[in-house]
Amino acid sequence: MKIRLFVVFILAFIAMGSCENGNGSGKSIDSGMDPFIDELLDRMTLEEKIGQLNLVSVGFDVTGPRVSQQVEEKIANGQVGGVFNSYTTVAVRKLQELAVNESRLGIPLIFGFDVVHGHRTVFPVPLGLAATWDPEAIEETARIAALEASLEGLNWTFSPMVDIARDPRWGRICEGSGEDAWYGSLVARAMVRGYQGEDLSGPHTVMACVKHFALYGAAEAGRDYNNVDMSLRRMREVYLPPYRAAVEEGAGSVMTSFNDISGIPASANRWLLTDLLRKEWGFTGFVVTDYTTLEELIPFGVAADKKEAARLALEAGVDMDMVSEVLVSHTGELVEEGILKEERVDAACRRILEAKYRLGLFDDPFRYVKGKESGEIELSPGHREYARQMARKSMILLKNDHHTLPLDEQSSIALIGPLVYSRRDVQGNWRGGGRNRDAVTVEEGVRSMAGEKARILTAQGANITDDTLMLFKLNAHGGEIDYHDPATLLREALGVASRADVIVAVVGESQGMSGESASRSGIGIPGSQKTLLKALKKTGKPLVIVLMNGRPLTLEWEQAHADAILETWFAGTEAGNAIADVLFGAYNPSGKLTVTFPRNVGQIPLYYNHHNIGRPYAGDILDKFKSQYLDAPNDPLYPFGYGLSYTTFSMGDPVLGTTRLVEGDTLSVSVEVQNTGPVPGEEVVQLYVQDLVASVTRPVKELKGFKRILLDPGESETVTFTLRADDLRFYNRDMDFVTEPGDFKIFTGPDSRNVKEAIFTLVRE
Ligand code: BGC
Repeated sequence: MKIRLFVVFILAFIAMGSCENGNGSGKSIDSGMDPFIDELLDRMTLEEKIGQLNLVSVGFDVTGPRVSQQVEEKIANGQVGGVFNSYTTVAVRKLQELAVNESRLGIPLIFGFDVVHGHRTVFPVPLGLAATWDPEAIEETARIAALEASLEGLNWTFSPMVDIARDPRWGRICEGSGEDAWYGSLVARAMVRGYQGEDLSGPHTVMACVKHFALYGAAEAGRDYNNVDMSLRRMREVYLPPYRAAVEEGAGSVMTSFNDISGIPASANRWLLTDLLRKEWGFTGFVVTDYTTLEELIPFGVAADKKEAARLALEAGVDMDMVSEVLVSHTGELVEEGILKEERVDAACRRILEAKYRLGLFDDPFRYVKGKESGEIELSPGHREYARQMARKSMILLKNDHHTLPLDEQSSIALIGPLVYSRRDVQGNWRGGGRNRDAVTVEEGVRSMAGEKARILTAQGANITDDTLMLFKLNAHGGEIDYHDPATLLREALGVASRADVIVAVVGESQGMSGESASRSGIGIPGSQKTLLKALKKTGKPLVIVLMNGRPLTLEWEQAHADAILETWFAGTEAGNAIADVLFGAYNPSGKLTVTFPRNVGQIPLYYNHHNIGRPYAGDILDKFKSQYLDAPNDPLYPFGYGLSYTTFSMGDPVLGTTRLVEGDTLSVSVEVQNTGPVPGEEVVQLYVQDLVASVTRPVKELKGFKRILLDPGESETVTFTLRADDLRFYNRDMDFVTEPGDFKIFTGPDSRNVKEAIFTLVRE
């Protein structure tokens, strides 16, 4: 061990024994950390400090337009603070040794990766996880992901992605929790807790990175990387709360977004990164940019060159530069020329060193690769089982006429579609370290559940798409999609269908059709597959559609013609088994949408919690001067909160503990729920509130509570929610976050559309 590393160890030793409180930002900071970092900073040259601000990409995955060059040389020269896209203990150890043994001060690197919905064990995509309405279970998926990632040398994940999205054309809608700020905040907190645990220096935790700050989900026209221009009211009410929740939960880092915000790109936005994030929210972790966003300040037209980009970013509050190498190349000049104070570099560097300290890396730079010589971990049966449970819980029964589902195990089943055999697509985008060989296809899941009983016939039936431009792009982006003669595929499928009692069509999107840079201007099932569905319908046999996709799709034809529709998202490693569990009734579906499914693209943006307007449409088509379309209804195909079950539930009216809520007291809202169908089932009972008259226009409904209950056939339960005046706060005319006394409506029901109401008055005494 070299002398310099020894010095670092001695310093670490002095500071040790006090890591217990060293969680992420918002929480108490270890008292030994400050002297340790002061001393280290004192010994660092300006170049070394700037080196810490540099995050480079190297290794297996290319997640942006280019990869970093001469990484090893730069690490040895102390010009790198962190590395991402490189994992397994072998790869990490090699780079960490370079940093620790070759750089002058031996400061360890942090290792990041996009562990977004699992690492080796892949869980459903986040939009699917959200559909479980079970934040505790979502937290557990993050804990499992952190365990697996940390076993492969990683200590930092670029997750949770908490961007609210109301536009399903945006492919990254699959990476978040949907359209609701309140629910999104619950999930954001759960994920941060799952990744970071009680103490970041504890075993098997990884530091969270909240992204993409901010408003990335509001890209105009749903086109990725596009502009965002938004009122402060909408920001505060809808888009900002989940970021804030994650910060309050102690997330150690925040990632900027690709978009501008009303004219100022996020990575150069001082209001966003300093006034709001640090001063108002009290964030003390570090801010990293997204991939090359600093050099993108040039095409944005706010920086003439990279030097100006560096200045804008540092002045705004950026601490670490992902891949652009704008900071490492130009910060020195800015300080030497007196344009930028060295204290700004010190502050950024300090935050990054603090994160490393909290992760225990100064204590032992090799703690994430300790004792593990082999590169990759294998999946544990326990993690697989959990992935299967989460996958089936995330699935949503959108339609089920004539009890078409569950399938009769004795029947002969035609499993048809381009996603029947796929191991790759089922894992969705950002599958972390997910391996195709571990994933269970729909065919495998269905065959293994059916055993000898049912006869399973399969056919591909169609290409994912026959659109040559889309196919070209998908494959150019690494899609690995084969193409076959459509007529032959269809002929084979009809042959298979003719021998079956029921058709299960597994259709939707390939994994590359949802995710980053995967915006679509049409969000129906691709034409090739639609042709297949129409041909299958003509056979007259019962038609079940199993959907695989990462975004709301427009499904009017499918809703009108299929007998049953099951939304399975991209369900992860155990997709095939979980789909089989639901198809055969071993699991009764209970997922609920956290995002609205429009009827057509023209309705977008369409979300349940829109504000009141002056001419609301109330269903009278002759009432011309009301807000409506000539050619389509206003309401969605499937509303927020929607999802069916193999059983049925009845719900009574909401019963209020009082109709007069005095500020400071609580209001109880009870609703009687009964399982009126033939099998046990779970229901997610939802509570919404509307402020009837306020100083500003308010949403027609806002989710304020939910409860998931399991009922046997015939069983009833009274579900009780508790509301406080605080739950009714909003930004008033002056943008103060307040309550205003007056009348409110309560809605309860199984989704946001099918609700029963009651009224109460908020009183200030
Ligand atoms: C994405 C981020 C991701 C980063 C690193 C970017 O292109 O926008 O979500 O964390 O790459 O892979």
